[in-house]
Amino acid sequence: MPCLIQVEEHGLTVTFASDTADGQPESVPFSSLTVSAGGLDHDHLVVKWNSVQGERTLYLKNPDVIRAFRETVPHHLSLPFAQAAEQVRQVRHRRRLVWSLVGGAILATVLGLWFGSDLLVELAVTRIPIEWEQKLGESAYRDFLSHQEVMKEGPAVTALGEMMHRLTEQIPNNPYEFDVTVVKSDVINAFALPGGYVVVFTGLMKKAESSEEVAGVLSHELNHVLQRHGLERIVKSLGLLTVAAIVLGNQQGLVGMMKQLGVELLTLKFGREQETEADLTGLQLLQRAKIDPSGMIRFFERLSEKDQGRMEWLSTHPMSTARAERLKAELAALPKKSPEPFTFDWKHVQASLGSQPVAVP
Ligand SMILES: [Zn+2]
Repeated sequence: MPCLIQVEEHGLTVTFASDTADGQPESVPFSSLTVSAGGLDHDHLVVKWNSVQGERTLYLKNPDVIRAFRETVPHHLSLPFAQAAEQVRQVRHRRRLVWSLVGGAILATVLGLWFGSDLLVELAVTRIPIEWEQKLGESAYRDFLSHQEVMKEGPAVTALGEMMHRLTEQIPNNPYEFDVTVVKSDVINAFALPGGYVVVFTGLMKKAESSEEVAGVLSHELNHVLQRHGLERIVKSLGLLTVAAIVLGNQQGLVGMMKQLGVELLTLKFGREQETEADLTGLQLLQRAKIDPSGMIRFFERLSEKDQGRMEWLSTHPMSTARAERLKAELAALPKKSPEPFTFDWKHVQASLGSQPVAVP
């Protein structure tokens, strides 16, 4: 029952707000009071006395009343009052502690979600200078090539050079100096390392029916570089603490740490969102470069139809029907541009690659 408390020299005057009481203020001398801590959460000051109506219990929470009570309370009540007040303080302190733990847990969860959605990773990546990325990519590139048979010249090298030139001159404000190397290997693969280091295997060139198919793969790979997807993967695998350190400005030792990942760069798997992004921006780049973008889709489709050779590229780029359909829809939405052919003859390039031409399905 709510009531009005007046703290006076002789004791308390209690006026009940409800009509169910007799309406008369009840005067309670300090001498008849006992004081303790209590209430639902043990954070109330509990005052008890016996009145003519029986035992009364008053739960005090209002700090003004409690302060007035403390200032007026006679000597015999001051010790229990101090003990009760101390108990209430402890309970409130514990509750604050619990709430700050709960708050901390909520904050950690929010950060975790944020990190999970890659926003923090992307923020960290924007703080890594391009030159660092180039150092990282170049060291993995040199490492990889030192174990490979590299094709230094010939029609295939010239053809890839022309494709790269057509594509890169359509990239506005391109911060990368792309470098492409042809590796003699029947593995059907191509990849681009952070910093713009591109490797194309002769197996992929033999498998492609047209130069537009190879250019499609190149355009996709270049866009992984331009969107810094590799760097995002690396930063993510380094973990939340490293990411936080980068965001907060401590980048020391990061390059060394990333270099330790070394060969992992070569088997880097991108996320589904990154693939979609590279597909879409890759398609747009082909369009700007006036290279027929249907070659890209065609190559993806053909690769997934037939299972021959070592389809390394396919293993990192699973081709689903949905992906092909989405690419076709994107292509249909782009403005039509009449393609300009390359200066080389693709059959001639393929013939230069090796003895057995790959059967065309
Ligand atoms: Zn990809």
